[in-house]
Amino acid sequence: MNWLLKNHSEPERIHQKAIHLENYGKYLVTPEKKQQPVIRLYCFPFAGGTASVFTHGWSEPLPQQIEYIAIQLPGRQSRIDELCVTDIRKLTRQIVDEMEPLIKDKAVPYAFLGHSLGTLIAWECAHEIRRRKLVLPLHFLFSGRGAPGASDSYQTPVDIKSSDKEFADICVSRFGPSQALLDKQLWPLSLPPLRGDLELYYRTDKWHMRALPVPLTVWGAHGDPISQESLVETWETFTPSTHTIPANSRVVITGGSSGIGEELAKRFAKRGANLLLLARRKEELERVAEECRKLIEQSPSPTSTCTIVVTDVTKKESVIQAAAVAENTLHSVDYLFLNAGVSMDLTFDDLATLDELDAVFRPMIDVNYFGCLYVTKAFAPLLKKNKGQLILISTGSGVLGLPRRSGYVASKHAVQGFMNSLRNEWKEQGITITTVCPGFVETGIRTASVNGGRAKEAMDPERNLMSVQDCVTHIVKATEQRRKTYHIPFSGQIGAYVYQIPILGDIVDSVLRGKMNREKAIPITEKKDL
Ligand code: NDP
Repeated sequence: MNWLLKNHSEPERIHQKAIHLENYGKYLVTPEKKQQPVIRLYCFPFAGGTASVFTHGWSEPLPQQIEYIAIQLPGRQSRIDELCVTDIRKLTRQIVDEMEPLIKDKAVPYAFLGHSLGTLIAWECAHEIRRRKLVLPLHFLFSGRGAPGASDSYQTPVDIKSSDKEFADICVSRFGPSQALLDKQLWPLSLPPLRGDLELYYRTDKWHMRALPVPLTVWGAHGDPISQESLVETWETFTPSTHTIPANSRVVITGGSSGIGEELAKRFAKRGANLLLLARRKEELERVAEECRKLIEQSPSPTSTCTIVVTDVTKKESVIQAAAVAENTLHSVDYLFLNAGVSMDLTFDDLATLDELDAVFRPMIDVNYFGCLYVTKAFAPLLKKNKGQLILISTGSGVLGLPRRSGYVASKHAVQGFMNSLRNEWKEQGITITTVCPGFVETGIRTASVNGGRAKEAMDPERNLMSVQDCVTHIVKATEQRRKTYHIPFSGQIGAYVYQIPILGDIVDSVLRGKMNREKAIPITEKKDL
């Protein structure tokens, strides 16, 4: 912010710069109109700022095919004789009037870049564009300002009618020092537009609070009183997808050798992620890794890697070794998927002795609960390096009850309870924990269940299992939206909500019993030896 104020406040440079600007209108100025730009970038300056901060020097290192159009507000530079517009609706209408013919040229997409107050003006312009049913920007690039309604250092009004000295002093204390505020000789140029812009800000009592379907990138800065990092988070609810997984992210997936883990690995490989896959079956891991490497070659980040480590998540040494490989290959972890899991297929009464009980229930707790704890503990330092995200693949029954899965369901209850607690412990450290709860998915988990389970062929084809591809699409969505808990399908969410309510909870139980009964029973004698 200071850098921008400093440049704009040098009067000689202001004149020099103004000569070279071309106009699309009073508001829209550019250093050079392009014949066939690939994109137009509209840049909205901070309070008191001018178009020239965006059109000179700043844009030169960036690609030629981008056409920069800066917003020149009245009361400064070439518009110094005009009065500032202090009504946000009037201002946005006037700006969008000039933009409309360019926006209607659908061959050229456009994005908005705004800094500080400029973000809010850009945001309001986008709403005016939506009101006129025009094509919305491709992307928002915002910095130095929280979302509409977020409190910040502008919140307590500055007396804009005070003397130049008082006004400059209070602005320095509130927004930080800059040459424009410290050098008295610059005040005739720098203070009137700043007063006008602050008046606009204070007069606006209603900003648009509705999210727009436009991807959003927001920057904050450590230690900056205005662009605090925490302000970035206030934008989270203002865009449908709060964050996009970057191409070369570092992703660790447990249980990457089959089913959901395999599909997750392939999905991230297509995006160019650096992958680390963990599971016990080496040949299966190698098969998946080979496919992932081919996908990575075609991805936006073809130099990314896919590494496998044969790991048993129930064995401490094995998990520690996997974390060491992760440290050497990835150095830090952006996304850790706790996906490895085992299931069962027996009623409690099927288990005749305590030994039989132990043989079935113990692996549930070892893999589904302790396995998650071991991996979380061993990978925590790598996850914390980049404020990464931990995604637990639980189950829809992680908050309900399911016949013939009691040990499995109990282990998922346990791990969900653990994650809900850890989320609170890690909140201040910026780690996101997402719990995804899929319903019935078409994978080999049933045939792999500890006691043999039911053969896939024995299952009722009418049972409507979710495809693994659909399931993973939802998992990626839940990850990108940084959800706390996400049920797939949504009816699972409703079931979870009403489960504790008398009568409604009974209906949920009877639906689940019906679903389980549609699996064709096979005699216990055909199941694996315990
Ligand atoms: P799969 O059986 O295909 O996958 C399970 C994965 O876990 C395998 O890659 C397996 O690899 C790995 N795994 C099992 N035990 C261990 C261990 N001790 N150490 C390391 N890895 C292990 O089933 P899914 O893909 O369906 O299951 C993935 C997750 O999804 C599980 O957590 C499951 O609870 C959950 N889920 C599944 C649903 C479904 O209907 N399929 C529904 C809801 C949730 P390997 O054998 O090579 O070690």
